[in-house]
Amino acid sequence: MLIVMETNATKEMVAKVCQEIEKMGLKAHPMPGPTRTAIGVTGNTSQVDSDRITAQSGVKEIIHVTKPYKLVSREFYPENTVINLGHDVTIGGKEVVIMAGPCSVESRDQCLAIAEKVSNSGAKVFRAGAYKPRTSPYSFQGLGEKGLKILDEVRKEFNLLIVTEAIDTETLDLVAHYTDIIQIGARNMQNYSLLKKTGRQPKTVLLKRGMSATLEELLMAAEYILNEGNRKVILCERGVRTFADHTRNTLDLSAIPFVKRMSHLPIIVDPSHGTGRRDKVLPLSRASVAVGADGLLIEVHHDPANALSDGAQSITPDTFEQLMKEIGAIANVMGRSV
Ligand code: PEP
Ligand code: MN
Repeated sequence: MLIVMETNATKEMVAKVCQEIEKMGLKAHPMPGPTRTAIGVTGNTSQVDSDRITAQSGVKEIIHVTKPYKLVSREFYPENTVINLGHDVTIGGKEVVIMAGPCSVESRDQCLAIAEKVSNSGAKVFRAGAYKPRTSPYSFQGLGEKGLKILDEVRKEFNLLIVTEAIDTETLDLVAHYTDIIQIGARNMQNYSLLKKTGRQPKTVLLKRGMSATLEELLMAAEYILNEGNRKVILCERGVRTFADHTRNTLDLSAIPFVKRMSHLPIIVDPSHGTGRRDKVLPLSRASVAVGADGLLIEVHHDPANALSDGAQSITPDTFEQLMKEIGAIANVMGRSV
């Protein structure tokens, strides 16, 4: 349920309505917007006495939202959510934000070498996993806290923002301490205790689509985070499992315009995991920007043949430079900038 307030409703009026909602045993989420203040109501709203709410001063109308996702829906918040990531970088607005770096933090030298290259080419965010969710327990699992400290050095040295994955509730606080954006990976998209915990902390969350998740399931996962109070969520299309075996996953670019209609949250594309193939990253990056993605998550490695994870889908810094030039031109056509 969504309560739309009059444009001239005061803060006190909004607070009073929130109090009434809480008294009914429901949760109130005031959402001030540029054109109106709305109050999202979650919980079991079926028994709510609407008259008790419309009787409050400042209330314009009540909208019943039938979708299972509420706080992430366009109905609840018609404007695009624009998140300030820090360092004057915003996502969800005009900017197309490029996040690039290796799959894993392998060493200090490796991260500094790649960070220098991607930063020179114009990336704003450095990606690399310190905790890696690997299919095989015998594969490289990441450097853990040592890796997080290397990422901290990258931030300081190159003024890059950092995105890195949290794989469990035990290490979430530690990851949050070191990073600017917390990545929740495809394998954890429906790890509800992890989602709830990321919702109770203030850092921005990058939520990747599960390998077999529908768009509604992706939005419901984001709803868990917003419902705990954190509205800074970026969604990420990274390919889903299909019968097609010419790529590692099938990158579902139709998800972008669909999600844009369903939700106000920013959405980016990861063409690296989406294809699993280095030579397909550039064409699908072009297409992602053309279809309206708010950013890209790209795996870049200076020595892909010897990468400890995902070398086959990692592009070289030279290709990345080319990619930046091309998507800059496409972004311009779309009235956006990189
Ligand atoms: C990654 O970004 O390196 C990763 C493990 O991604 P995903 O969760 O999409 O597989
Ligand atoms: Mn990877």
